[in-house]
Amino acid sequence: MFYISICPICGMDLTGAKCGGCGYDLSTKNEGSIEIGPKATNEKIKNNEDFILLDVRHPNENELTKIENSVLIPLNELPNRLNELDKKKQIICYCRTGNRSLHSARFLRQKGFTDAKNLKGGIHLWHDEVDSSKVKY
Ligand SMILES: [Zn+2]
Repeated sequence: MFYISICPICGMDLTGAKCGGCGYDLSTKNEGSIEIGPKATNEKIKNNEDFILLDVRHPNENELTKIENSVLIPLNELPNRLNELDKKKQIICYCRTGNRSLHSARFLRQKGFTDAKNLKGGIHLWHDEVDSSKVKY
């Protein structure tokens, strides 16, 4: 049974576990270590590691507050903008609390971005553990 009736990625009505619009398969559980914490992510930034920090929120939210050097691709635009991302790079997705970005990390893995991850707790936990100057909304 799937209790989500609308695809969390593209917003289409769901009739089963797999979205007929973007192909997102909601029956997939977390594969391996899909989550990474704010402190570990911040270490990567400090060490100048080569990865993509992907903001999947609405542009209004990005305008309100964001993590530096992140790329904005709103969740519902992600299926049509996959060509803007590098499959060879690690991609760490984030949103407000880590729910939407978990779906986007799973979706990216299903599309061949094997090192896609979710920033645990989103910008909320980032505020608490890394940078309190971020707006907690
Ligand atoms: Zn979909």
